[in-house]
Amino acid sequence: MDRVLAFGCHPDDVEFMATGTLALLADRGYEIHIATMTGGEVGSATHKSQEIRDIRLAEADAAAKVIHAQYHYAGSRDLEVQYDDAHRKMTVRIMRQVDPHIVLTLPPSDYLADHEQTSLLVRNAAYIASVPLYDCGVPATPASRIPHLYYWNAVNLTDIFGRPLPLHFGVDVTSVIDTKQRMLETHASQGDWLAHHNDYNAYLELMKDWSRAQGKLIGAEHGECFIQHLGNGHPADNILAEVLGPLCINLN
Ligand SMILES: [Zn+2]
Repeated sequence: MDRVLAFGCHPDDVEFMATGTLALLADRGYEIHIATMTGGEVGSATHKSQEIRDIRLAEADAAAKVIHAQYHYAGSRDLEVQYDDAHRKMTVRIMRQVDPHIVLTLPPSDYLADHEQTSLLVRNAAYIASVPLYDCGVPATPASRIPHLYYWNAVNLTDIFGRPLPLHFGVDVTSVIDTKQRMLETHASQGDWLAHHNDYNAYLELMKDWSRAQGKLIGAEHGECFIQHLGNGHPADNILAEVLGPLCINLN
């Protein structure tokens, strides 16, 4: 069975931007894996760090189960994500464990440095997990391929300079928007936290606003847009277009 790995920084990153596409891939027989770099240790105004991490890891696991996906926690902490040796190893461990055909991750330019560092770590891990002599610190079989790699859209749908990202295509996720909402609803602790910290009193509405705005770009009610990583070594054909057919709409 072919495998897809969606690798975010925090529990709920994937749910905001890519779970519609994951639900469609699950329907088409893909084995789905969701990973996060951190355990969401600072995402609370009321809990202690360890408590909120336990809550958020359980929420992430429950969200993944909605589409029968497996959840993986890489082992870092909020606001401590670095492009360093420890993080390189923890990212490659998950890449080797899943050995994905398709990888989805955060875009290189996004509002929070932890997001951008995660993007770079996942991009690098996708490339080096198949290098046999790279030591990720635990016994692990090298990945069998360099996967197709895609970046999902940035928070607020802009880069750090306020510009839209150079998106390649969008996926029409209208048919699975209820599944996407169910997965995000599972992160109940974050609805409360964002209401407290960012004046977001509508966690779910925010996700739907972004899905609608991306849908508009492709003539659909709800969409998720992506950029394909086309650097040397990665497959350059668009496997998502092949698998999703007319639901995958080019933006070029
Ligand atoms: Zn995040």
